Formats: sequence, C-alpha cells, structure tokens
Amino acid sequence: MHPLPFVTREQIREIAEKYPTPFIIYDEKGIRENAENVKKAFSWNPGFVEYFAVKATPNPRLLSIFKEYGFGADCASFNELALAKSVGFPGERIMFSSNDTPFEEYTYADHIGAVINLDDITHIDFCEKACGGKLPETMSMRFNPGGIFKMSNGIMDNPGDSKYGMTESQIFEAVRVLMNKGVKHFGIHSFLASNTLTNDYYPVLSRILFELAVKLRDETGADMSFINLSGGVGVAYKPEQKANDILEIGDRVRQVYEDVIVPAGMTGLRVFSEMGRFMTGTYGGLVTKAIHEKHIYKEYIGVDACAVNLIRPAMYGAYHHITVLGKENDTCDHTYDITGSLCENNDKFAIDRAMPRIDMGDYLFIHDAGAHGYSMGYNYNGKLKCAELLLREDGSAELIRRAETPRDYFATLDCTDAYKALDETLKEQGV
Ligand SMILES: *Cc1c(COP(=O)(O)O)cnc(C)c1O
Repeated sequence: MHPLPFVTREQIREIAEKYPTPFIIYDEKGIRENAENVKKAFSWNPGFVEYFAVKATPNPRLLSIFKEYGFGADCASFNELALAKSVGFPGERIMFSSNDTPFEEYTYADHIGAVINLDDITHIDFCEKACGGKLPETMSMRFNPGGIFKMSNGIMDNPGDSKYGMTESQIFEAVRVLMNKGVKHFGIHSFLASNTLTNDYYPVLSRILFELAVKLRDETGADMSFINLSGGVGVAYKPEQKANDILEIGDRVRQVYEDVIVPAGMTGLRVFSEMGRFMTGTYGGLVTKAIHEKHIYKEYIGVDACAVNLIRPAMYGAYHHITVLGKENDTCDHTYDITGSLCENNDKFAIDRAMPRIDMGDYLFIHDAGAHGYSMGYNYNGKLKCAELLLREDGSAELIRRAETPRDYFATLDCTDAYKALDETLKEQGV
C-alpha cells in the first residue's frame, strides 16, 4: 500500500481558500525526519556532508532547512549556484557538479569558493583559465567506469552510454596534471544509476570508488580528500515498492569503508552524497481540483493542474500515486484517465487508474511530487507554474513561492500593447 497523504481534505479545503489550486505542498515534518536519518546514517564518518541536489527542488526555503542540518547544495548551473549562495551556504558547502560547463559558470563557482567537480579531462585547462589562471587547492573529478552497471537484484544502468565523467585512465592522468598545476586535495564522484530502489546501490558504488581512491593514492601519491556518492537513491513511487532504508544504506557503506579504506590507512577520507529525489520526493504532493468529467470511449477526469506542474508522467510515463482526499478508504470501483488541459494527449497524470468515484470539486493529491515536480515545470500552452507551500509542523501553510501570473509570462517580451491590454483586463477583473 502507498502511504496516505500527509494532509487531509479538511486541511486542504482551508488552505485552498487562501491559495487556490493547483499547488505543490511540502511536508516540513517529513523532510526534517528524513534529514535527521540521513545525518544519523553517515554519522560514523565525521566529514560526511549531504549536498542536496538543488535541481530536485530549487526552493530557498527548503535549502535553508537543509542548511540547518549542516548539509550543502549540489549545483549544476549559474542560477543554482546563485540560489545556494543567496541562502548563505559557505563555499565548501556548495558542490558544482556540472557538465558541458560554460566558461563563466566555472568563473562564478570559483569566485564563491564552490568545490568544482570536473566532468572531463579537457575541462582542466578550460577551468584553469576560467579561474583566472589558478585552480583551487581542492578539485573533484567525475568517474565513469563504462560498460554496464549491474547489481545483484537485477537493477542496472548503462554508464558506457552516458555522457558523464572520465574513464579510469583519464582520472589517473587528470590527477597527475592537476598535481602539477598545484592542486593539493582530490575528490572522486560518480553517478551510475538513477532512482534505485535497493539498499545495495550506495554500498556497491562505494566499493568501486573507495578502491579507486586507494589505487590513486598508491600510484600518484595524491591526497584523496573525499568520495562523493552523488545521487540515485530512489523513492517508492508505486504502492508495491518498498522504500529504501537510509540507515541500513549508511551502515553498509561503513562496512565497505572498514573493508577498503581503514586497512589502507586513509581514515581521513570523507564521504559525501548529493541526494535530491530522496530528500524531498516523498514529502511533496501536487494538489489539484477535479473540474471536468468527460465520458467518450473512456472516462476522463479533468483537473486544474497539468504537465506544466508535474511533467514526469507525460515525459517518462512515470507512475504517481493519486489519492482523492476524503475518500482514502473508498473502494476503487471506477477507472479513470486523469488529465490536464494541455493540447498534448500525453498530458495525463494517470491512465486507466482504478480510483474511487470522483465528484467535481474533489481534491486530488498527486503523491511524490516533491522532487522534479516544480523544478521541471515549463510554460507550454501559456500555462503558468503553480505556487509552492510548506506545511509547517504546527499545521499552518506557508507560501514559499507564489504562483506565476500573466505578468511573469509576458516579462521577457517587449510588447507594450499586449502589456497594456493585459493590465486593463486585470484591472477590470479586479486582480
Ligand atoms: C541529479 C543529480 C543528483 C541528484 O540525483 P537524485 O537521483 O535526485 O538523488 C546528484 N548529482 C548530480 C551530478 C546530478 O546530476
């Protein structure tokens, strides 16, 4: 069974009076409990830092919650760096894990003292120039082992087909070149599988990276400062899936550390993570209202949200569980497609989904929209991005990002007449 929503119909009715649907609401309590567990899971490694992957949910209010736990931010663009900076993360708590990186983004990353994670060996000279001719003392490198990455439970991914990272021989070469350029401390990063639902992923990955770190130290004499396990720890989107246990994951990474790192005498080696989805995915829901029902060859329920607010189902056919608020215990004796309003037939939050009877005005809670929901939003069909709310631990709702307005949609255009017309219309409507 999928866990129930963290809000009730009564709460949403009250919240929606002030903040009309659709909106994404985040559960502060859930986010904090999970953050505590992440911290606890890796507390055996005194240098551990989770760098929250900003792209999952780029909201400063949520970033500042993670900052309270001593976490950092993992960024991949100028704007993500600027967002992390605006929240007050110090440089060493900002990881810059980008690829195909523009020159001025390296310059800015260096300027704010972020830890730079190089995606490729050819970026060394490029980055050095961008950093004004002097590389930072600590540099990280992204590793791609190639081939097929397999785990015992059948999960696999295809690093050999992915654009990220350097080969093993390039990593050795990069360390030598960087040492010659005066770099003193090194990190290795790798991201081999996405949305994994197994406690095996980090332990398997950490063995690969720990062994590489020992080999690098032995063969080049480099000071290996950290291993960055990156993201990839997944979320149980489907009711039959079992959630990851971060405490077990942390403990099993510890065992690998004791196997590989301790005997090599490298006990100063720090472990980093860059989880995004796992930190917020489960703790956000897209709340939307049923506004149309349509019966043709199938039964459709039209809602006031669309793929602009959560693109995962349209983009990857991803499953998102849906609860009709107030009908949590009703039998699922209807079969619906739940659709948004875009002029794209894939704008459906669910297809042939068994659900309780849905009445107009019912609130639907689309689960697990806390990561890659708002952040993947766009403006197709002139649709606007929705508000983000934080459900505080005392039950109150805090607006942490307002909904876009037509003015935002027009803001990048130079069309004075359209603006005037818009302003007049809005004035007439009393907006
Ligand atoms: C997306 C990404 C992450 C976060 O991945 P999750 O699967 O959301 O945990 C971390 N690091 C990098 C470099 C990424 O691109």
